[in-house]
Amino acid sequence: MNDKNTLYIVVPCYKEEAVLPETSKRLEAKMTSLMEQGKISEKSRIMFVNDGSSDNTWPIIQSLHEKKPELFSGVNLSRNRGHQNALLAGLLTAMNYADMIISMDADLQDDINAVDAMIDAYHKGYEVVYGVRSKRDTDTFFKRFTAEGFYKVMKALGVDIVFNHADYRLMSRRAVEGLSQFSEVNLFLRGIVPQIGYKWTTVTYERAERFAGESKYPLKKMLAFAADGITSFSVKPIRLVFTAGVIVFIVSVIMLLYALIAKIAGHTSVGWTSLMGSIWLLGGIQLLGLGVVGEYIGKIYNETKHRPRFIIESVLNKQDNE
Ligand code: UDP
Ligand code: MG
Repeated sequence: MNDKNTLYIVVPCYKEEAVLPETSKRLEAKMTSLMEQGKISEKSRIMFVNDGSSDNTWPIIQSLHEKKPELFSGVNLSRNRGHQNALLAGLLTAMNYADMIISMDADLQDDINAVDAMIDAYHKGYEVVYGVRSKRDTDTFFKRFTAEGFYKVMKALGVDIVFNHADYRLMSRRAVEGLSQFSEVNLFLRGIVPQIGYKWTTVTYERAERFAGESKYPLKKMLAFAADGITSFSVKPIRLVFTAGVIVFIVSVIMLLYALIAKIAGHTSVGWTSLMGSIWLLGGIQLLGLGVVGEYIGKIYNETKHRPRFIIESVLNKQDNE
């Protein structure tokens, strides 16, 4: 076991006054037991990030910190910036103090007992440990259907994500430092984290229901999130346009030939040949053109994200004079 064992648990909170008292109690118990087992250092903290809530979320965090500064920390965002940004703010703040950081939701739908297994994996040398839902019995059919459909579409579009993993994960400080090099504004952490690399593994757990308060992810936000995820990581939709262009273009040539032959054979009405030919040809050329333009836009898009081109894990190099 290594001695780098300061754990920060980062919890983004948006209007979570209904769950915070219970959440803080449960997390405190977990932290205390981990400390007693010697798995984490005394410097470990639970860091709540208030994502510009208009309710009592921040006052609750403040009072937790006042009562137990040796356990609870807080980060207050200037306004609501959304779950992913709040989480990133917490990760980047915690990175300065922690050796490992676990992110989880304030409603504790993700079983906090998986934390033990995550920390064990960290001590075994894994730098990223993804929490994966074993089943979704407690989700409504609709949520399960849309969520699992989302993972499948993402996979089909060639985006590297971990199936049924939300943002419940452990990252080593090194991994978070890697994450900090991704300067993109459209944050889709589930897609970015696998890009960081390093040794990783998964830990499965069962997802529970929210014990209080309601979901801050209504369908509209979920769809926006999904669209964000896809457009941030895949240029396949553009490729589809291009492919459609190629297909229509080929069909147009066939149609043109067919129309000509039909004309020569003499059983067409006046104007039909030129009409058919131009409709197909123009449509095909337009789609093809759009696809080509799209390819370039895709390139520009990728460049503007300024993602790190590589992250070095280790270097072996010996100089003679050493
Ligand atoms: N959250 C946030 N900012 C937002 C929306 C949500 O920080 O604008 C937090 C929220 O407090 C919770 C987590 O993101 O800790 C996940 O939200 P929720 O549990 O409502 O989503 P669901 O589990 O229904 O997908
Ligand atoms: Mg939830």
